[in-house]
Amino acid sequence: MDTLKQLLITELRDRNSTRAQFQKATYGLAHVLAQEAADYCATQKTTVQTPLSSTHGLALKKNPMLVPILRSGIALLPTFLNYFPGASIGIVGLKRDEKTAEAQLYYDNIPPVQPDDQVIILDPMIATGGTAVKTLKILVDKDIKQENIVFVALVSAPEGLQTIRSHFEKINIIVAAQDEKLNSEKFILPGLGDFGDRYFGS
Ligand code: URA
Repeated sequence: MDTLKQLLITELRDRNSTRAQFQKATYGLAHVLAQEAADYCATQKTTVQTPLSSTHGLALKKNPMLVPILRSGIALLPTFLNYFPGASIGIVGLKRDEKTAEAQLYYDNIPPVQPDDQVIILDPMIATGGTAVKTLKILVDKDIKQENIVFVALVSAPEGLQTIRSHFEKINIIVAAQDEKLNSEKFILPGLGDFGDRYFGS
């Protein structure tokens, strides 16, 4: 893993990190992951005028749509908007039932999309994969191609990655740290605890 990623993940894992440190490390890691996600976006050659001359450049063909999964996904949104300003934003609200760990959909609002549009889904934790699969289903049912979807997460459990892959084999997944397993309460080990509680302070 890259040094910067490791430094930031270590700060997120540390139970002694303050909320300010936790939020700052989240933004830092989001910057690294946004740069990786950009590699999946369709680009075209362009010409740019510098103050002195004209030269070759690169432009996005179209902004990807950003889809943060509520609530933790909104922690990654500002950084991604920094790199994809003007992107449309789809919202999916899923809440993990504390007893069953099953994801319940309570809100979804996806702007109109074309079949060739690219989508970046934002959710810091891939635990069981249930939330990811429900979100992917909403998008794929709108005819978005799997290969045009990038799922961005900070930490994943193997169980979650496997569940996603068993339903959607062609989607792209970017994750900063692939952890060991889930515990009996479906939390990721070693993980970083409850992302939302630590980020939002709830
Ligand atoms: N969500 C979290 O915030 N943490 C986990 O370990 C699993 C799901």
